[in-house]
Amino acid sequence: MRLFFALWPDERLRETLTDWARCCRASSRGRPVRMPNIHATLAFLGEVDPSRLPALRALGAELPARAFDVALDRLGYWPRQRIVYAGSSVPPAALAALASGLKLRLAGAGFPTEERPYVLHVTLLRDVRRAPATAAVAPLLWHVRDMLLIESVRAGGMQLYRPIERFTLTA
Ligand code: ATP
Ligand code: MG
Repeated sequence: MRLFFALWPDERLRETLTDWARCCRASSRGRPVRMPNIHATLAFLGEVDPSRLPALRALGAELPARAFDVALDRLGYWPRQRIVYAGSSVPPAALAALASGLKLRLAGAGFPTEERPYVLHVTLLRDVRRAPATAAVAPLLWHVRDMLLIESVRAGGMQLYRPIERFTLTA
């Protein structure tokens, strides 16, 4: 199974982010992420044997993580990845704590982890060759209340993200 942990904006937020992508595309071109698929990856696991699912479920459930709000207030461009993303110029400490706590536990359980520090990015456009005309956007407040374990499946030429487990972050 191809798995990753993610934060998933609610439908209203995803609709607004789809609007951002549409605006941005005028200058950047690129391929918009479909509205249902808009998310922020917390930790990418890649190919995982299904026998490891109980370990991942336990790990997610035991993670001492708190709910938080984060303002999406900027558009970023990563030329190597060729993506335009929504990001935050003021990521809360709770998000860093969630990402690092998860990484620590994943590493402890023998899963591969990312070396680079965590940067929140909600990918909006792929296959982008030039930076968007503007980076500033009216801030969008995202109330992050849970974390998901997602299976990434390719079906009929489309990428589908199937929730496997939802973990509630404590208030
Ligand atoms: P496609 O690969 O077909 O373009 P996708 O990237 O949306 O589709 P996946 O490759 O399954 O689908 O990736 C799922 C999520 O994990 C996405 O948010 C993706 O950006 C992220 N991701 C994929 N590969 C890595 C990686 N090697 N390191 C970090 N994040 C990754
Ligand atoms: Mg990919």
